[in-house]
Amino acid sequence: MDEILTILGQLFSPQGAFTVCLLMALILYIRVLRRMSAKARAILAITPDKLVKDKLSDTELDRYSRHIILREIGGQGQSKLRKARVLVVGAGGLGSPVLSYLAAAGVGVIGVIDDDIVSLSNLQRQVLFDEDQLDTPKVFCAQAKLKKLNPFVEILPFNRRLNKLDAETLFCDFDLIIDGTDNFATRQLVNSACVKLKKPLILGAIAQWEGQVSVFNVTQSSPCYACVFPTEPASGLAPDCASAGVMGALPGIIGSMMAAEAIKQITGAGKILSNQMLIFDILHSDVHKININKNSECQVCKGTL
Ligand SMILES: [Zn+2]
Repeated sequence: MDEILTILGQLFSPQGAFTVCLLMALILYIRVLRRMSAKARAILAITPDKLVKDKLSDTELDRYSRHIILREIGGQGQSKLRKARVLVVGAGGLGSPVLSYLAAAGVGVIGVIDDDIVSLSNLQRQVLFDEDQLDTPKVFCAQAKLKKLNPFVEILPFNRRLNKLDAETLFCDFDLIIDGTDNFATRQLVNSACVKLKKPLILGAIAQWEGQVSVFNVTQSSPCYACVFPTEPASGLAPDCASAGVMGALPGIIGSMMAAEAIKQITGAGKILSNQMLIFDILHSDVHKININKNSECQVCKGTL
């Protein structure tokens, strides 16, 4: 008891009060140091990708290494892909491979517009989707799958049918437009907006066993889609997949070609299918490449349509 009283007496003496204050200040100082250290650790935990905006991180260099070692792409081409903004119209048979390969390739921002939901009959060829996604809007299913494929890319889903106003406002935000829709009216709408806004357009089409792909509006002198197809084909000449059928792997082939044209267009690698159209007849394993030219009478190019 005497010892306790002695300690208390010392604590309440002027020297004791000074020692207590010193101890409290020391404890406070250690706490502040610990907090600063925790903040520093949190900053260091941020991946280099978030800290370094213009340089490919070590993770990206590894992820895209097979691109980067290609002389025609290299690190510079891969950086161009990361800066690119591409809009894909239609998330169906063609949209599935286009979106998958663009996301895997590291295209920085990918927009996708479609108003459809996933249905059972889609799964024979639209490999981006699965049975768990039935009756769910395709653009949101695509967004979820593509983010899992490559978290480095940003996916912008637009769950609606494209209209004229949308086309002209939405297309402004993208460098390149890719059309994988299955009807003439939408293709014409997409093409007109691309011509008006001077955006290159990669367009693919499929039916039964045949598909085609081309790149339009690349320069002032290259043809637009309406230069080649000014009017809607007669009913029965260009049937859609729902009424005429389509072999499941065909959209995979044509859609992959479209993605390849996009990667070449963005990186500047090789020669794109401008002024040319590639036609695949998968049933007979025939491939044709034809030249297409700007039509001086094209109403879309003249701006009168
Ligand atoms: Zn034209």
